[in-house]
Amino acid sequence: MSEHKPAFETRTIHAGAAPDPATNARVTPIYQTASYVFDDVDHAASLFGLQAFGNIYTRIMNPTNAVLESRIADLEGGTAALAVASGHAAQFLVFHTLLSPGDKFLASKKLYGGSINQFGNSFKSFGWEVIWVDSDDPQNFDRAFVPGVKAIFVESIANPGGVVTDLDPIGAIAKKHHVPLIVDNTLATPYLVRPFEHGANIVVHSATKFLGGHGNSIGGLIVDGGNFDWLADDKFTQLSKPNPSYAGLELGKTFGNISFAIAARVLGLRDLGPSLAPFNAFLILTGIETLALRIERHTANALAVARHLQGHAKVAWVSYAGLEGDKYHGLQQKYAPKGAGAVFTFGLKGGYDAGVGLVKNVKLFSHLANIGDVRSLIIHPASTTHKQLTPAQRAAAGAGDDVVRLSVGIENVVDIIADLDQALAAL
Ligand SMILES: *Cc1c(COP(=O)(O)O)cnc(C)c1O
Repeated sequence: MSEHKPAFETRTIHAGAAPDPATNARVTPIYQTASYVFDDVDHAASLFGLQAFGNIYTRIMNPTNAVLESRIADLEGGTAALAVASGHAAQFLVFHTLLSPGDKFLASKKLYGGSINQFGNSFKSFGWEVIWVDSDDPQNFDRAFVPGVKAIFVESIANPGGVVTDLDPIGAIAKKHHVPLIVDNTLATPYLVRPFEHGANIVVHSATKFLGGHGNSIGGLIVDGGNFDWLADDKFTQLSKPNPSYAGLELGKTFGNISFAIAARVLGLRDLGPSLAPFNAFLILTGIETLALRIERHTANALAVARHLQGHAKVAWVSYAGLEGDKYHGLQQKYAPKGAGAVFTFGLKGGYDAGVGLVKNVKLFSHLANIGDVRSLIIHPASTTHKQLTPAQRAAAGAGDDVVRLSVGIENVVDIIADLDQALAAL
């Protein structure tokens, strides 16, 4: 065997998959089963004791999901992955694996609106406290450290503003304090940004977005970078202490550089239960096969639309890191040299009313709360996704009253621009 490592595009199609051993089916089948027959009593006992890897019950593992897990681990450059029911479930299981009641974590203020709710409100019931940090100055993360902080969470390209995060210095700060850096790579995908090459220890995805790519299934992924020492101190007790539900097994010691992914599966997924249906795993796998082609077109279209809007009389500003002169253009060239993705915001001179009017007037664009679809999507965050936030939180998250967010699809860009032009003209 040669040492040749296939390129990214090739791995989006082949990584983790092989013809089905039982049937020779070329495409990964949907293993639509709840459970799996044990070879014998000893086999069953070794599976339950984690002495052997194998299938027990689809809440915890499934062969279709396993192909998706191997593929995303390969594409991100991690050691192992876990597929779960949604992006939010992925975040929940990551923090469940890391934190105990009373623990804290730092998170960028520039996040998906749903993550701001999850971290700021729902996580309180678990006794986990988020400390918000303005990520534009990475040193703010260092300044925000207090006892009990056990993780840092950022988005590589932040929703909704098309902001690019300066990962290297944030990774260095995480390392200095010996806490994992968790990067939500949903908007970038591993085609555009490589978080593990910039200090990340855990990557999460909403596979609902560009990975699945067709707006047809909810799913989430957790990728273990295999590059964090969970046993260096006693901060991460799920990994470092004997586990009472596995007869005192020490997960960190036993599973080494895949122990985070294992713990998220055998504690988090087993006990909290947000498993991904194998049918959704199949659709997400199929989506990933065209990831590189789609993202190329998505980013080329987005850049053309952003340039067009920049010159439009009714547009006050455009925030897209792909534009020369944009505040984040330098960071985009460093971290996302192939392009700034397809999600960005712009401001309308007519403010809140113009934002509401624009989403009423578009015809090709769909007005909905999603991103990362082959279809072009539009939303006015202040009246929808970010409505539950305070005006100050909205402004900090880049979702003020005049802001419109686009997720530019892969239709012909002439049609995309024509639709925005007619909708703006009718304001
Ligand atoms: C959509 C999204 C999430 C949440 O994912 P779901 O699959 O909707 O649960 C998290 N982070 C980002 C950046 C997202 O866009």
